[in-house]
Amino acid sequence: MKLLVVEDEPELGRLLCSAFERAGFAVDLATSLHEGRGFLAVAGYDAAVLDLSLPDGDGLSLLAELRRAGAGLPVLILTARDAPEDRVHGLNAGADDYLVKPFHLPELIARIRALLRRPSAALGLTLSLGNLELDTVLRQARVGGQILLLSPREISVLELLLRHQGQVALRASLEDRLYGMDRDFTPNALEVLIHRLRRRLQDAGASPLIHTIRGVGYLMAPPS
Ligand code: CA
Repeated sequence: MKLLVVEDEPELGRLLCSAFERAGFAVDLATSLHEGRGFLAVAGYDAAVLDLSLPDGDGLSLLAELRRAGAGLPVLILTARDAPEDRVHGLNAGADDYLVKPFHLPELIARIRALLRRPSAALGLTLSLGNLELDTVLRQARVGGQILLLSPREISVLELLLRHQGQVALRASLEDRLYGMDRDFTPNALEVLIHRLRRRLQDAGASPLIHTIRGVGYLMAPPS
């Protein structure tokens, strides 16, 4: 799952990025409206966290542009403006949720997950294929009721593959969703991740297989 964070306070921006990354999200950080617009124009996001007081204007104007363009992207406003009328204004402008600074990080992460679970954003709470199940609420994979020990990123790639089951998940799109604009990841990071996930699934006796479609991507399919 990939998030766009629009926040101009450098320290808070870094804190948000590292907290979301630890929780298994890929994150892009924009520090102005202009930068936020640029990211939204070129990348796909599953949700956005939007500060309101930005150096080049009000975050609500970006939200209004998104909604005018018909984008259903879930947006959480994160702001120091705590007057009830500000909340009403933000929600009326098309925000899906509103959290006032200072806030508790685990609450922010839980709220983003809740937004992602909404029917418009999610295809189901539990994804399954063969004897493998992924609970997207608990972030837990199970084979025959047995919980697998997977890292947040392994869970994220598994979720993406399961959402694309029966179709090829393109390599570039997986990398984009998993690593965001952070081009620091090594060229074979995705391969290593898939290799590890495949082994863990095999060890647990999972029936679906992850096929490598050379040069294109990966396909998760039930055993033929
Ligand atoms: Ca600000």
